[in-house]
Amino acid sequence: MRFERVVVTGGAGFLGSHVCEELVFSGASVVCVDNLATGRLSNLDTVAGHPRFHFEHADVTEPLRVPGPVDVVLHLACPASPAAYLREPVTTMRTGSLGTLHALELARLHRARFLLASTSEVYGDPLRHPQTEDYWGNVNPVGPRSVYDESKRFSEALTIAYQAQYGVRGSIARIFNSYGPRMRPDDGRMIPAFIRQGLAGEPITVFGDGAQTRSLCYVSDTVRGLIALARNDFPGPVNIGGPDELSVTQIAERIRRLTGGTAPVRHGEAMTDDPRRRCPDIALARRELGWAPQVSLTEGLRRTVDHFAATSFAHRAAG
Ligand code: NAD
Repeated sequence: MRFERVVVTGGAGFLGSHVCEELVFSGASVVCVDNLATGRLSNLDTVAGHPRFHFEHADVTEPLRVPGPVDVVLHLACPASPAAYLREPVTTMRTGSLGTLHALELARLHRARFLLASTSEVYGDPLRHPQTEDYWGNVNPVGPRSVYDESKRFSEALTIAYQAQYGVRGSIARIFNSYGPRMRPDDGRMIPAFIRQGLAGEPITVFGDGAQTRSLCYVSDTVRGLIALARNDFPGPVNIGGPDELSVTQIAERIRRLTGGTAPVRHGEAMTDDPRRRCPDIALARRELGWAPQVSLTEGLRRTVDHFAATSFAHRAAG
């Protein structure tokens, strides 16, 4: 399916900006809707001013109006780093609930396809490994992270409801930890935090004992997976993530070597409800979308470290 005009909510964020760029440069017109809560206009430097790109400063918790035709709504607007979604927990839930309602309404009014950027957090602290899409998860509904997890679970249910009641063709992508250029160095997520500490020559801080596992996916692979799903009529949910499981200590050690850090890894207090294991089964994405990650962890981390080194150097030079 060829896209003519796409609305990307959350398009000024880390993933959204790469999605906008990919769509604009593959021939689509893009309307990026973002309130810049955690995103940055500088993320959109490569498409700003392009005739097929338009930025709309708007909050998805308010009803959305986009004049003209729209054939796809890609709904990414939602703070994704724990630091951001815990800072204003009610805002997070309003974005996850009302924001998704308004994005789905927009798709309904335009008879557009809809894609929800959901998350591996819907599996909570999973009791099944690796996680397949038919696993219902193990989420603490009243823990601090529940504001994010439960609003994504609500968003998934609402996507299904819009399909059932209004016939909106929606797909759900469950994204596992994605990383790459344009993550905010200060957003508290593991990869930017480790790289920032490594480049500054500080000890890398691992929360908890570091035996908890994560699987990582480089941003270009994640974006390819999201767009493949949006082009496909498959409703999902579909896991989009890297299938290689590493302990957080192993990831910290790799980043320490890549950044030339010499300080030892240190441990901080474990975070509440931090999942012990996280690893997607991506057989469904392989079969339905022909998708699998292509960028190795070493290559992806190297590109990300180079980006952070260049941008922090630029900031230092400017300051
Ligand atoms: P991000 O915080 O960089 O981007 C989110 C964007 O949404 C930002 O530009 C922010 O300003 C915007 N936004 C937030 N609230 C809004 C509102 N009320 N109205 C309009 N815009 C709003 O996060 P990201 O990592 O790019 O994540 C994008 C999406 O993918 C999120 O929905 C997130 O839950 C999902 N996701 C990401 C990952 C990952 O590893 N990056 C993993 C799982 C799921």
